[in-house]
Parts: sequence; structure tokens; C-alpha cells
Amino acid sequence: MPALPSPPARGAPDACPGALHLHPAADGLLARIRCPGGLLTAVQLRLLAAVARDHGDGHLELTSRANVQLRAVAATATGPLAARLRAAGLLPSTAHERVRNILGSALADIDSPAAWDVGAQVRALDAAICAEPDLARLSGRFLFAVDDGGGDTVTARADVGLLPGPDDDVAVLLAGADHGLRAGPADAARAAVAAARAFLDDPDAAAGSAWRLDDLTPAGLDRVVTRAGTAPGVRRTARRWQQPPPAAGPAVPVGVRHRPDGDFALVVAIPLGRLTVDQADLLAAASPQLRITPWRGVVLPRVTDPAGWADRFTRAGLVTDPGSPWLGVTACAGLPGCARSRADVRAEAAATHAGRPAPTGGVHPSLGRRPHLPVHWIGCERGCGTPAGPVVRVTATGAGYQIDAPDRTRVHLPTGAALGAAVQTAREEP
Ligand code: SF4
Repeated sequence: MPALPSPPARGAPDACPGALHLHPAADGLLARIRCPGGLLTAVQLRLLAAVARDHGDGHLELTSRANVQLRAVAATATGPLAARLRAAGLLPSTAHERVRNILGSALADIDSPAAWDVGAQVRALDAAICAEPDLARLSGRFLFAVDDGGGDTVTARADVGLLPGPDDDVAVLLAGADHGLRAGPADAARAAVAAARAFLDDPDAAAGSAWRLDDLTPAGLDRVVTRAGTAPGVRRTARRWQQPPPAAGPAVPVGVRHRPDGDFALVVAIPLGRLTVDQADLLAAASPQLRITPWRGVVLPRVTDPAGWADRFTRAGLVTDPGSPWLGVTACAGLPGCARSRADVRAEAAATHAGRPAPTGGVHPSLGRRPHLPVHWIGCERGCGTPAGPVVRVTATGAGYQIDAPDRTRVHLPTGAALGAAVQTAREEP
């Protein structure tokens, strides 16, 4: 597969879409609304459904950074859209609207009680970012993360991550790695902002050659570590965090979950990350607080009658069955939304994984129900939205599909070939 395109020079304008800087896509303007930590109230989700109904194509797209996208927005709707988002608290800073990229552990405090409040830390970090004028200079690609201690956000290699450890210590990870930076919980948000500033102050970032910490040379990263380590509230240690082994079982833990306090949570997967406005309204009716996940799902952290809601969601086309063939399946926009795409990859993915009619050719069998690697369908080599970590990529070639497994196995299948078995084989874990 050809190498992915390099990011544009840092001196070029940041083309990352936002709620105020919409991207001209093939199907109209695309708006991306940042939802730090994936946190939304039911009121905000209903508002997003309403603006998608009034100004978009009637869907909400969930992104791999737990943000929300609207497609097919008319140029005349950008003003009303911004006003409605602002009134709902979804646009707290005009200058920082594209840099509020914060991942949060979506299952925080659900499987076990937590002393570290991920939601509160996300909100504190969001406020600290918006309060720092310099951070508006970050690229829209720059990513923060607040982990619950289990390390689930670490695979995303966030530029700046907060990871609580023993002894009331919070590790400030840079580019997904522990460089020995530590802060107390009360200083964590400030420390993350200091690390981002340390990046912006680096000569490579200032010269326009680095958008993210991964773009720095090893010497540049060392300089950032040194600067961040001198910020108020930050200290350095020789100890390093040890990543726990990955948990067994499916990567997307959908279904009902028992909370330690006796209540229930419900984890829902959204097929191909695309919610209809009616599905969004239904989710909002089930819980006053919701969390969008990086795996294109929605967590309802506290819900009464979870079995009843799971049944209603299933009938509405959402996924609460841990054996669903939709789990771990994602796709980029493809045709008709993206002019670069060589195929309607969503329709092909639906045909392959759920037995839906293919846009051309026959109906493919559903895939197996055992744990497997995630698979991402893409219309070109750019690979938008590819999940972090090991993933099978299925790329439209114009003459069929190319399947790339993490072990570098590559298969080409011509148009009309049955993709199901080949994709399943590539998804089998060693
Ligand atoms: S991967 Fe290619 S086809 Fe898909 S959305 Fe990105 S640019 Fe478009």
C-alpha cells in the first residue's frame, strides 16, 4: 500500500474541520463538533439531532475521537448552526473550537469505583485549554486524553495523556509514552496544558515542521519533556508506567453492565458510527448523561430498565448484542460523501458484515461471532478514521478491494468477489 500522505506543512492553514470552519465535502459542508471526553447531556444530544434534521443529512456521525460530525450542511446554515451549538454549550470558545480534542475512558467508574473522576478531569482540562490563548495555535490534529488508570486511551497515542497511578500520582504521558512527568490530581489539567505549551514553544513546532509530538525528532521530544518538567505542579521521576496486558474478549464490550453501586449501565454500538436522528433521540430518552466512545458507540452510564432499553435499541437498529457481526466494523465516509473515494465503502461493509444488499454484486455472508480484530473500510489510502492499534484495513482500489492485516498479509480481491471469508481470515487473531 502506498505511504499515507504527509501532513501539510505546519505553516499552512489548518484544514481540520470544525463547527465554525466547515469542510467542503462532495455531499456539502461537513461540520465537526468537539465533544471533550465524548461527554454529552441528553439535552445536547437532542440538540445535535435537531440540527442534523434541520441543517444536515439527518444523521450524526461519531468519530474515532468521540466527536460528532454533520454532513451535507448548506452554506446558508452555518450561522444558525453555530448559534444553536453555542446556546447548547457545545461551542464554549470560538478560538479553541478545533483544539478541544480530548479522549476520555468511556467506561470510567462503571466496572469499578474510581477515586479519579475522569469526567471532572475532562471538564477541567477543557476549561484550562480554552483559558489559554496560546493553545488556540495547536493543530486540530493535536489530541489530549484522560485515562481512568486502565490504559484504554493509551493506544490512541494522544499527544498529552493523563494517567492516574498509585500514590495519588498522575503520569503526564507525551505521545503515548511515559517520560517520568508527574502531577497531583489537582494539578493534572494545568500540567497537560503546560505540556502542550512546551510543544508549541519548541523550535520545530514554531518553525512549522511539527503538528503533533510524533512529528518531532527525538531531540525535540526531549526538549518538550524538559520544558514541561519545569512547569508549576509538575515533577519528574525515574519510575515508568507499565502498560497492563490487553484484556481478553471482544474489544467493544456492548450490552448491560452492572455498576459497583448496584445500578446499571448500557453500552451501545452504532453500526458504522452513523446515528439517525431518531436513534439519537431514543438514546437521549434513556439517560440524562451519555458518553460517545472512540469505538463509535455510546455509553449510558446509568440507566433504569436496561433490558427494556436494550430491546428498544435493537429494534431501532442499534447494537447491544455482544455477538453482533457489526462489532469492530468501521468505515470512512466513502462515496457519495467523499470525492476521493473509489467506492461506497459503507454499503460494501454493510453487505459484508450484516448481509445487506451490496451496491453491486451479490450478498455476502455474515461473519463469525468470536472475538476478532477490528476492521476499517476505506475508499482510498488516506485511511481517514482508522482506529488506533492493530486493525485490518479494507481499501477500495477501483477494481475491487485490498485487504491489509496487521501482520502485513495483503490480499487483493477483484470487484464482484465475495469479501466475507477473506476479511474474516484477516481479522483472526494469531
Ligand atoms: S479515506 Fe479517502 S475516501 Fe475515505 S473519507 Fe478519507 S479521503 Fe475520503
